[in-house]
Amino acid sequence: MAPKEIPPTPQLSQSHSGIPSRLYEKAQYAKSLILDIATKKQDSRKRPLAIPKGIDQATFLKAIKELERELGKEHVELVDKPLRDGWYMEHPNTHDAQHVLDDEELVASAVVYPGSTEEVQKIVLWANKYKIPIFPISIGRNLGYGGAAPRVRGSVVIDLGRRMNKILDINPDDYTCLVEPGVTFFALYEEIQRRGYKHLWVDVPDLGGGSVLGNTLDRGVGYTAYGDHWACHSGLEVVLPTGEVMRTGMGAMPGSSSWQIFPYGFGPMAEYVFVYHAVETRTDESSGLFSQSNMGIVTKMGMTLMPNPGGYESFLYAFPNESDLAPLRQVEIIRPLRVSNILENVAQLRHVVQMIALKGKPRSHFFSEGGQIPDDKAREVARRELNYGDFTWLYFGMSYGPKEIRQYKLDIIHKEFMKIPGARRIDPSTLPPDDYFWSRDRIAAGIPDLEELRWTNWYPNGSHIAFSPVSPVRGPDAMNLWKIARTSAAMYNFDIFAAFCVGLREMHIIVEVVFNRDNPNHRKNALACMRKMIDDAAALGYGEYRTHLALMDQIAGTYNWNNNALMRFNERIKDALDPNGILAPGKSGVWPARYRGRGWEMNGTRQSSEGEGVKREGTRL
Ligand code: ADP
Repeated sequence: MAPKEIPPTPQLSQSHSGIPSRLYEKAQYAKSLILDIATKKQDSRKRPLAIPKGIDQATFLKAIKELERELGKEHVELVDKPLRDGWYMEHPNTHDAQHVLDDEELVASAVVYPGSTEEVQKIVLWANKYKIPIFPISIGRNLGYGGAAPRVRGSVVIDLGRRMNKILDINPDDYTCLVEPGVTFFALYEEIQRRGYKHLWVDVPDLGGGSVLGNTLDRGVGYTAYGDHWACHSGLEVVLPTGEVMRTGMGAMPGSSSWQIFPYGFGPMAEYVFVYHAVETRTDESSGLFSQSNMGIVTKMGMTLMPNPGGYESFLYAFPNESDLAPLRQVEIIRPLRVSNILENVAQLRHVVQMIALKGKPRSHFFSEGGQIPDDKAREVARRELNYGDFTWLYFGMSYGPKEIRQYKLDIIHKEFMKIPGARRIDPSTLPPDDYFWSRDRIAAGIPDLEELRWTNWYPNGSHIAFSPVSPVRGPDAMNLWKIARTSAAMYNFDIFAAFCVGLREMHIIVEVVFNRDNPNHRKNALACMRKMIDDAAALGYGEYRTHLALMDQIAGTYNWNNNALMRFNERIKDALDPNGILAPGKSGVWPARYRGRGWEMNGTRQSSEGEGVKREGTRL
């Protein structure tokens, strides 16, 4: 366990974003692994403010004073102090803690802490008055996708979570809750336990420190049978870029008691969702104006909770076959089982190199050679260091329901999986209590955990960035994406941390590249590697579901059917809702008119978070 001198991690009893006491030792241990190998010097010099383009320093400082008068001086902070990266549990709200660009690129000029929806409205009106870009975060732990960083250098970050972190309602009869931005999965889970609601489950992602609301808006996923967070939400309260506040769905009716149970309301929808009606039935995909968007600031969100299925049982299969053939064969077997809900949660097929990295030790602990580790070398290390015998891929799954119902499904799964030559079921009772399997078991049972980040220690100052394309659940597609990822990573000397995640009818392959953020060359290569994967995938018709701030323009550019019809539509809505272009300009590649055509897009040659300026007052757009 952690040596004594590791500084304490804030706990949930002390901070809205803290660690639950049951995970305190685990957090200290995770932190010790990071600190053991950290080499990046945390600069102590005072830095100049990153003033946003389009405003001079004196006017900016005058505007900040005005905001201090509105919100209270203690709720407005200038970002003129050293940038400290921290770690997952003590992350910054000023910049990208795992920066793939220079840390001075995607950086805030100030951070503000509203205490209510009314104060969010005040901030928005203030931003319009001075035409200062603002960027909302809920918790800001969106690591791998930009963390708390704003897309436009010098934006004022609105840290909603610090003061707006109440669980407004947990309804044990309807299986719903209503939360503010600063409620983490940890906090929601702990509160449900405290109230003794054993029949309510929360669908949790790999790490429990994210905001329920922020993760859902960014279309994050969890690992119970609910999985797709956006599809599970019901009802938003939103501050629009001009300062008005509105509620979606049934929330638009004063006094409605159905806001969290029926997402549609009446008339055209600002958000389209297709909800789960039970564990067993899920309808389809979702989309919406306020998700992955810069059209509004969400101040409240309703979320459905899953009924406790009355029992659960995790299972694990190992596939030792040559790496290239395993995804091809396995994915074909998974598809019918997943669509018919025999496989009930987001299915995960994990590659051997990531499983080794989950030990939390750096690459140099296992391998001395450079380049991409070949599978046979990795298998050799895995046989020695892990508890799973010989494998290239591991499948983690969970079966829900009472014993006899689970057994029915588990028997089918076993019969199908064993058709793959060399497949082997690993008996969980042979695995020690600290094996990663049990972390997956907790997560798939809705118990938030903190183990997943260990693989980022592959390098000192380890950071990660993800390539996350979507494809049909078919062997040839899995093979195409696997080859793209593998060959691109090899070109740039990166190991590949790949997981095939099967949602329902679609599959995401999540390819994480881990780099040392203190090494400019490593950062440059990681970004170039991502850009190559994105282009190669787009050439075959595969697009990403979510991405880092630095890659948003490139990916938005691949969704260009019919002369960019979708982007032109988004821009029209953006310009109508946000005429001054103040809210998160450039988020998801959507630039307001004030910024368009002025070199703000990032691509392979332009890597700056600043363009050549913004449209000045009185000039034509
Ligand atoms: P988490 O900590 O859960 O990972 P973040 O707070 O970092 O989530 O939010 C993820 C992304 O979602 C942010 O980068 C931001 O663009 C967007 N976002 C977060 N909260 C809000 C909000 N309340 N309203 C609008 N967009 C938001």
